[in-house]
Formats: sequence, C-alpha cells, structure tokens
Amino acid sequence: MFKAIYLEKDDSGVQQSIRELDESDLPDGDVRVAVEYSTINYKDGLAITGAAPVVRNYPMVPGIDFAGRVLESRNPAFKEGDAVVLNGWGVGETHWGGLAQQARLKGDWLIKLPEALTTRQAAAIGTAGYTAMLCVMALERGGIRPDKGDVLVTGAAGGVGSVAISVLAKLGYRVLASTGRSSETDYLKGLGAAEIIDRNELSEPSKRPLGKERWAGAVDAVGSHTLANVLAQTKYGGAVAACGLAQGGDLPATVYPFILRSVSLLGIDSVMAPKTLREEAWQRLAHELDNAKLEAIIEELPLANAPAAAERILKGQVRGRIVVNVNA
Ligand code: NDP
Repeated sequence: MFKAIYLEKDDSGVQQSIRELDESDLPDGDVRVAVEYSTINYKDGLAITGAAPVVRNYPMVPGIDFAGRVLESRNPAFKEGDAVVLNGWGVGETHWGGLAQQARLKGDWLIKLPEALTTRQAAAIGTAGYTAMLCVMALERGGIRPDKGDVLVTGAAGGVGSVAISVLAKLGYRVLASTGRSSETDYLKGLGAAEIIDRNELSEPSKRPLGKERWAGAVDAVGSHTLANVLAQTKYGGAVAACGLAQGGDLPATVYPFILRSVSLLGIDSVMAPKTLREEAWQRLAHELDNAKLEAIIEELPLANAPAAAERILKGQVRGRIVVNVNA
C-alpha cells in the first residue's frame, strides 16, 4: 500500500483526499518508481483546485513532476535502483502523477538523474526550473550572450523566475528581475538579480508600440500586457522566451518589435519537449545552478500539505519552489 493525493470530480467540483492505494491500482507502464519527492508547480495548483481544466480524466493522482528510484522495470534503459526524474508528458493531467509514494508509467518519459543532483534537488528544480533552463537555451540559440546586454526575468519571485535568475547570473548575464513583491528584493538580489523592476511598470496596457530599448533578452513567465511591453522594450536583434501566462493567456501586442527591431519571440513548451532537449537541460542544470542558491529557493512540505500549497501558488504567494516530501 502507498499514499497518494487523489482527485475526484462531482457536481460541486474537484474533491481532494489522501488515499491508501495498492500497486494494482496504478496505471499501466513499463517502469514502477518509488517516488521520493514531488513538487507544486502553477499547473499543479490549477489541477488540484480545479481552477482550470488541466486534469482530463478522473480519478487522478496529480503531480506533473517527481524524482525517485526505479522499483521494477521492463524497459531496457532502466534497472532497479536507478535515480530518475519525470517532468510533464501529460503526467498529472491524463496519467497518474507524482504526488504519491509510487508511480507507474512509460520508461521513455523518464530521465536518468545526473549524478550531481539528488532526488530532492531534482524535485526542487522540477518543471519550473527545467523550463527556465529551456528558456535560457532558447535565448542562446537566438544569439543572446552576456555581452549583448541585460536580460529581464518576469514573474521573478516565482519558480520559473527564481531558477532563471540563478542560472542567468551564474552564466554571467546582468539580470533585471520584474516582481510585484517589493518585500523580496533581498531574495532576488541574493539569487543574482542586479536590478529590480516593479511589475506594474510592465503589466498595464501599452501606450506605444515601441519603447526605449532596455534589454537584449527576456524570460517571460507572465504573458498578456507584460509580454507585450517586454517585446516593445527589447533591443534591436534581441529575443524573448515566452513560457507562461501568470497574468493572462492573451498577447495584446503589435508587430513593430518584430519588423522594426528584428526582435524574436521564442515559444517554450516543456510538456512535450523532445528527450534530447530535456537531457541537455538537466545536464546543464546539474552544473550551472548553484546548490546554495537552489537551497535558498526551496520550501519543503509533507504530502498532506500539498493541497494548501496548490491554493497558495495560484494566489502568487509561493516564493521560489515547493518540494513535497511524499514520505513525510
Ligand atoms: P509561480 O506561481 O511560482 O510564479 C509565477 C509568478 O508570476 C508569481 O510568483 C508572480 O511573480 C508573477 N505573477 C503572478 N500573477 C501575476 C499577475 N497577475 N501579473 C503579473 N505577474 C504575476 O509559477 P511558475 O513559476 O511555476 O510558472 C510560471 C508560469 O509559467 C505559469 O503561467 C506556468 O503555467 C508557466 N509554465 C509553463 C511551462 C511551459 O512548459 N511553457 C512550464 C512551467 C510553467 P512576482 O511575485 O515576482 O511578481
């Protein structure tokens, strides 16, 4: 028997409970994993509270991420005891996920954990951190280097933002952090931000299609007016990696940054990203994310507290990354 967060849906909405489940309850798959740590991403917040239709079938065990050890495998790439990490592929949405002490799924979805990372660190990075690295890699492919100018990170005190700042600073970029939480200035500077920008400067409807050229690149976790303003203030030849919608899924922008400043808008998806890209991102995270900075962004919780954390992340009240110890 093992414990799991269990979601069911009835006429009054999504109901959560902690259930004792049996191995025979698990969905099909060629690898069974003893989960050690999971996490709460923004998407998990939507799934657990039912605030958006992230979960496609019920009952569902949520959790789009986990890290743990292989218990048994019929997949030749994995053997008992291997440390693995899982991000996305619809896990926690269409297939039972990581907020449980066990998971069974397709081995092809798993990544072998780089030796430099523990399962706790991998869960702390999670989808948010791995997406931050995908954004950094996309900016690099777009020609952005530290000598091209500053890089802006929006949603700075959140999960994607905190990891993006830490990695960019370590790579030598001068990082600007846009946040609505002035109380987190010391936290953001501690991660490596050189300057803090009040998010209200960017979140209002744009008055002009182009603004002063302020940054060479940006990692945007916010979308909507913020992304439009970020694009309008990106330097000639710059690039913006867009991965999130914390402000909204709309994009009330003009084409002027693209056609007058050769600005590139780079879309980032982590869920279906190919395995080679994931492996590259995880290898880089193992070496380009400072352990002390990662530790500074972690809040660790037991499984029973995951639903409350789901409510908090949707209210923008989670700083950095939540790690869920599923065995606590
Ligand atoms: P968090 O909740 O940890 O961070 C989001 C941050 O956005 C908040 O901390 C806050 O930062 C800022 N924010 C929240 N509400 C608003 C608002 N109304 N206007 C402006 N800023 C706001 O979430 P994650 O970091 O886990 O995820 C960030 C976004 O990226 C989400 O939209 C998520 O769905 C998306 N995402 C997409 C992925 C992909 O594959 N494309 C993968 C992972 C995440 P602050 O307090 O500093 O202002």
